[in-house]
Amino acid sequence: MSEEKFFYQTEAAELLKMMISSVYSNKDIFLRELISNASDALDKRRIECLRNTELAENKNPEIKIEINADSKTLSVSDNGIGMTRDELIKYLGTIAKSGTKEFLKAAKNENTQSELIGQFGVGFYSVFMVADKVEVLTRKLGSSETFKFISDGSGSYTIDDTETRDECGTTITLFIRPKADDDSKDYLNEWTIREIIGKYSDFISWPIYFKDKIINSQKAIWQRPDSEIKEDEYKEFYKHLTHDWRDPLTHIKINAEGSTNFKGLLFIPSEAPLDLFMNPESGGISLYINRVFIMNDCKDLIPQYMRFIRGVIDSEDLPLNISREILQDELIIRVIRRSTQRKIFSELKKMLENDRENYIKFWLSFGRILKEGVIQDHENAKTILGISLFRTTENDGWTTLSEYESRMKPDQKGIYCLAGRDNLSALKASPKIEPFTSKGYEVLLMTDPVDEVILQEANFILPEESKDLLNIAKDDVTPYSEDEKKANEKKLKEIDSEFEPLRKKALEIFGDKLETVRPSLTLTSSPACLKDAPGGMSLQWENLMRSAGQTPPVQKRILELSANNPVVKKLISLSKDNSDKVSDILRVLYDQSLILEGVMPDDPAGFVKRVDELMAVALKDG
Ligand code: ADP
Repeated sequence: MSEEKFFYQTEAAELLKMMISSVYSNKDIFLRELISNASDALDKRRIECLRNTELAENKNPEIKIEINADSKTLSVSDNGIGMTRDELIKYLGTIAKSGTKEFLKAAKNENTQSELIGQFGVGFYSVFMVADKVEVLTRKLGSSETFKFISDGSGSYTIDDTETRDECGTTITLFIRPKADDDSKDYLNEWTIREIIGKYSDFISWPIYFKDKIINSQKAIWQRPDSEIKEDEYKEFYKHLTHDWRDPLTHIKINAEGSTNFKGLLFIPSEAPLDLFMNPESGGISLYINRVFIMNDCKDLIPQYMRFIRGVIDSEDLPLNISREILQDELIIRVIRRSTQRKIFSELKKMLENDRENYIKFWLSFGRILKEGVIQDHENAKTILGISLFRTTENDGWTTLSEYESRMKPDQKGIYCLAGRDNLSALKASPKIEPFTSKGYEVLLMTDPVDEVILQEANFILPEESKDLLNIAKDDVTPYSEDEKKANEKKLKEIDSEFEPLRKKALEIFGDKLETVRPSLTLTSSPACLKDAPGGMSLQWENLMRSAGQTPPVQKRILELSANNPVVKKLISLSKDNSDKVSDILRVLYDQSLILEGVMPDDPAGFVKRVDELMAVALKDG
């Protein structure tokens, strides 16, 4: 083989085109990306040599930057792990990142394009913002073959094997595009390069050589005193670590001294980046031992429900040759995990108390993940519920449980809650809420999938002194006092015999689905409402099971029909004559009450047909 031509994967080609014409104002970051990749490559080589003792140790690990005014090139070299031919194709010829398609669709709008580029993090491809040709000369650790990748960012690239590198590693040479105007930066200028490295890459732990001198301080940012570090340095470190191009929401520093010594620098991203949860390369917490990188995405350092946290933990007490497999058995790891978790809880609590605006941002992005901890981690369930935000019927904002408690009426038995659906406005319209709000009680509206599980289990998990979470979908949870209940029952008895034919009719139709049908004097605007039997499974839970591919056991529910509603009143009187209309309208009412719960009727076509017929009749009469 000498030279072979390849075509970029469609998405990659599209992304490249976007880079070439990019108006993204911060073009400097291409250098940060290249240095980050070089640093990762040196980390990977070191780890590989630890694992495989036959491979030669890297005697002078380094990153080298060179500029050449004559050829108008800028190059970044490393003697790290290098790439094979297949890896060149896989990493530089395609985009493996999840969410690429969505990104490209969103980026069609030029106004938001540059912002999106910033959010997506295009990595290596960002070189095409400043270069019109790129050459990558690389040799993989342990291999004797050298490959050269050449691309001008158009639809194709070439790979040849005609040159050789003496050592493994990678050199990336950019043929810098002429300056577009006087305002744009000159990336062949020594001081421009010094400034960019100082700003973005100073903390890189490997030496960066420029003009034969090391130009980065190589100080691990988490080892330096807080007072010495500028906010921007944290931000740049975060970006290096995560490949997220946006600023983090906040950082958390840990300095644990005592029986176990470790330092940590953790970040909460500002939003879940498109690929945050999918890209293991940029995942989770990186473990360092005495400033030496050991592994990224160290899952044992943090509970699963805190998986949105990024950062570094550096321990003094672990052996350097530790492997992923034995990590979870290490007592030290468990100690670190506990104290990290505690610190994160306390920082979140602080943010909730002092910076509500940012906390809401955090909650919108990651609240539903954190809340999984209520189920996974019983020991901390109360802490998590304590820093959880909920929607409520009280206002358009958010509330914590304790804020809700402070507004509770003196006679109120617990916290009234209703869970279901992702859709807040649909939840707000549920007929189940009416009896509570009409009596002036506030209802928590829980919209996350995990909320349904929390409601089922919270009262077993929560300590005794906590207020109960009362699920108002359950038939035995009502806003009424014993006296009110008695008075209500008395009134219902009075209309019971009148209601009987309608109940009989309804049970004839829905006998397999309903435990009972009864009139209600408390529904204010809705004609019908489906309630869960006290010990039974909720509709939402049934829905969750179905969406997980399971078949829930049959649940019989309670159908309440509003005795004050004109339609129901008419039905009561018609049912005495056994009219056909009654069953049709009952079916529509039943399906309506399912729809209000966010559940599709069993026979949607039948529902539509019946509503059509009712409309036809209504229009004829009009
Ligand atoms: P990211 O770094 O976010 O994964 P990039 O587009 O910057 O995305 O790089 C894609 C992949 O190419 C890297 O994950 C890495 O596997 C490989 N790569 C890039 N630069 C180098 C390098 N200098 N040495 C070895 N591998 C590299």
